[in-house]
Amino acid sequence: MKWPEGKKFAFTIFDDTDFQTVENTAPVYEFLYELGFRTTKSVWPIKGSQKPLVGGGTCDDPEYLAWAQLLQRRGFEIGMHNATYHTSTKEETRRGMEAFKAHFGSYPKCLANHYSNEESIYWGNYRLTGAREFIHNLLLHYKRDGLFRGHIEDSPLFWGDICKEKVYYVRNFVYGDVNTLKACPYMPYYDPLRPYVNAWFAGSEGGEIDSYLNMLSEKNQDRLEKEGGACIMYTHFGKGFFRDGKLNPRFKKLMEWLSRKNGWFVPTDVLLDYLSSESGIHEITVQERAHLEWKWLLHKLRMRGTS
Ligand SMILES: [Zn+2]
Repeated sequence: MKWPEGKKFAFTIFDDTDFQTVENTAPVYEFLYELGFRTTKSVWPIKGSQKPLVGGGTCDDPEYLAWAQLLQRRGFEIGMHNATYHTSTKEETRRGMEAFKAHFGSYPKCLANHYSNEESIYWGNYRLTGAREFIHNLLLHYKRDGLFRGHIEDSPLFWGDICKEKVYYVRNFVYGDVNTLKACPYMPYYDPLRPYVNAWFAGSEGGEIDSYLNMLSEKNQDRLEKEGGACIMYTHFGKGFFRDGKLNPRFKKLMEWLSRKNGWFVPTDVLLDYLSSESGIHEITVQERAHLEWKWLLHKLRMRGTS
């Protein structure tokens, strides 16, 4: 892959907004901004009406919204993490989409499902096909079989048509390789078995601070650079990257190390637009789907659960 501006590799982050408040995450973004990174921060556009399993700030809080809008003005992409932190009906999802547009000027280009929201699209067992879906259900003792219904047309949670019309890219599998593009060379890709999503992308494991720091070790960064690859980190910056008034020192060191490399540091949507302008939106074959799904199942077994 040849990167723009003579860059040797590409790097971005899609940050799920779980647990985030201005207080616990603004310093992380201030630091990334100063180092020259422009990544993607997701939001919940509307406040929920029920107690969340995992909560955090929403755009209904003026201070949180002002912060997210500042990030957007500074060149960060704002993505979506469903309408709010608990399950939404179609009407609530629609309201979330419209609130997003009112706040940020357009509908979200990139979205990631929030793990427990039942309107999540092609989520849980529906991420997998055939034998892989069966194995996944066995591993989870069928506990979440059929739970996620965003793509099921006769469900009150269905919003597949809204997704198709308004959202470009949805994150699916997260892998244990810093070079996300090597783990998922087809991205952004279209899956004809999951037609309400226009294009899927993958991520590199970093959902917890420890897995993030392991994934972006100096050695892995050097390999990403050497391979000329692309990394889309999956993370939650609200989970302990800034604690007791300071940034995690190892996080600081690793991001500084990365910032000195000749990388293309652009938000997720810019990176995916570039990949699709080079090679189009690839429609995956049966074999390619099997390859992606098996690899993710193995990764999931190794990690003992991730999203
Ligand atoms: Zn989440």
